[in-house]
Amino acid sequence: MKIGVLASQGAFAEHIKVLQQLNVEAMPVRLPHELLGVDGLIIPGGESTTISRLIAAYNLESGIKALVKEGKPIFGTCAGMILLSRDISGNTTKALDLMDIKVKRNAFGRQRESFETELAIPVLGEEPYPAVFIRAPMIERCGDGVEVLAKLDDGTIVAARQDKLLVTAFHPELTGDYRFHRYYLDMASGKA
Ligand code: GLN
Repeated sequence: MKIGVLASQGAFAEHIKVLQQLNVEAMPVRLPHELLGVDGLIIPGGESTTISRLIAAYNLESGIKALVKEGKPIFGTCAGMILLSRDISGNTTKALDLMDIKVKRNAFGRQRESFETELAIPVLGEEPYPAVFIRAPMIERCGDGVEVLAKLDDGTIVAARQDKLLVTAFHPELTGDYRFHRYYLDMASGKA
C-alpha cells in the first residue's frame, strides 16, 4: 500500500514518519502526477489558506477529486479538515467541497490556541486518545451522511467520517498514539 501525503506546506513530514513507523510506503505529493498510483492521501495541518493557494497553483484539485471518485480514502487533519469541508464559517470562498461539513477556523480563541486533551473515540477502542489541538478548527455542522467520531466534553465535534473521508480537528501525527492512522489504513484496505 502506498499513501500520498500532500507536502505543499505544514506538518507533512510528521505524517510521513508515522506511516513509515507503520511500515507503509509514504509518498510526498507536490505535483499532480504524484497522485497517480497512491492508495490514499493525507492532507496535513498547516495554514489552510496557504495550502489552498498551492493546490490551485500546482493544479492538484482535479487529481485529489479523482482519488475520491475512485473510492480512495482521504485523511484531513486540522488545516486538511478545513480544506475538505463544504463550508467555512464566515467565508464566502469554498474549500475542496468534498465533505458535507461546515467548519470554523481558529475556533478556540486566544486562551486555548493550543491544548491537549484526552478524547473518548469509540472507533479506536476504550483507551482515551491524546489529542493535540493547535489553532484548531471545529466542525459546526455535519450533513446526514457524516458520522461523528469524537466530541469535546462541551459537545464540540472534532473528528468525523463520511464514506472514505476522515477528518480530525487535532493533530494525530504529533503523539506516539498511531491508532488514528491505523484506523485510516484500515479504511484504505477496506477493513474499517
Ligand atoms: N489555523 C489554521 C488554519 O486555519 C489551522 C491550524 C493547523 O492546521 N494546525 O488554516
